[in-house]
Amino acid sequence: MTEEKIFERDDKNYLPVFNRYKIVLERGEGAYLYDINGKKYIDFLAGIAVNVLGHNYPPLVKAISEQAAKVIHVSNLYYTQPQADAAAKLVKLSGLDRAFFANSGAEANEGAIKIARKFAKKISADKTQIITAWDSFHGRTLATLTATGQPHYHKGFEPLPAGFDYVRFNDIEDLEKKISDKTCAVMLETIQGEGGVYPPKGDYLKKVRELCDKHGALLIFDEIQSGMGRSGKFFAYEKYGVKPDIVTLAKGLAGGVPIGAFICTEEVAKAFKPGDHGTTFGGNPLACAAANVVLDTVPDEEFLAHVEEVGKYFKEKLIGLQKKYPAQIKEIRGEGLILGAQLDKPKKSGVEIVNECMKRGAIINCTVGTVLRFIPPLIITNEQVDEVIKILDDVLGE
Ligand SMILES: *Cc1c(COP(=O)(O)O)cnc(C)c1O
Repeated sequence: MTEEKIFERDDKNYLPVFNRYKIVLERGEGAYLYDINGKKYIDFLAGIAVNVLGHNYPPLVKAISEQAAKVIHVSNLYYTQPQADAAAKLVKLSGLDRAFFANSGAEANEGAIKIARKFAKKISADKTQIITAWDSFHGRTLATLTATGQPHYHKGFEPLPAGFDYVRFNDIEDLEKKISDKTCAVMLETIQGEGGVYPPKGDYLKKVRELCDKHGALLIFDEIQSGMGRSGKFFAYEKYGVKPDIVTLAKGLAGGVPIGAFICTEEVAKAFKPGDHGTTFGGNPLACAAANVVLDTVPDEEFLAHVEEVGKYFKEKLIGLQKKYPAQIKEIRGEGLILGAQLDKPKKSGVEIVNECMKRGAIINCTVGTVLRFIPPLIITNEQVDEVIKILDDVLGE
């Protein structure tokens, strides 16, 4: 089928909720993608921070194929080894006590919110407030969309679930004002992704932890985007020396197979009894077999050191571009391989820059209209960074 035919077919039948770029992707290899015309793209988006091991990674393909040939799904009424293994690995890595698998990030956060509410109810019936940050992103289900501190996502879906309040990220005084003994949980992205790539500043997260402890509120870190090694540590919270009561993961956790997870302390876990929560597909052996490959590869010291090094190299190169085009790029932010370039008064809009890069064979992303976001596969090399920097330089210099 030709490209035109596929555009036409999809445009006619698919729910029109995504503005798509006009290419049809067919296959991938490492950090590269190919469209149906055979055009090659370097992929610095990784399916939105998902393909942490790149495309067509042989051990991942092998694990998925072998598991598919054995059994894909059996439900949570039974035990499977891939699930038991993946949960054990997450518990060990996080220093927390219990893991639960879901199918997406939103669903992982829903589970975290539910268990936090149940936990706090035992303390007091009115301990229900969930505090999240402005410019956060937590998902598209009704509760997680309400948790998302970007009002434009809320419009038209009211009435929204009650009990959510918002604070400015990196502003501890704002949290001090809003937190109280009625606060059930504070939920933050350890590094804000969708909202424009904002890492926590100074000891902000430590102070958040202290305020949570003072008021008996749970601390939930949403590491759906910043976890899985992207920051240079497996969990971004390790970078800041703060441990949450609950952490949520998804995106890169199974290298591209849909999955979500939350991990919590034993104390929190006790809030749920059999029947309180569940999901049909969650933790199925196919998704967990894929997660096991990620969990055996990414936490490796050398792998994480690579993320740190290539991330540092990439950031330096982006700062170089900022110095060359100070009128267009205002700031470079981020850690490891979650990096953002804040556009100032670019000659082209963010979306135009993304489109121009795509024409030249580089897939990058623009978030909130004004931040170029780079969330590539974690296996990229310095040479591949140079490829993208060269294309960006050409586009910005035009
Ligand atoms: C992508 C994302 C989500 C939502 O994940 P889905 O799998 O799309 O439901 C939640 N939180 C953060 C931080 C994300 O980046």
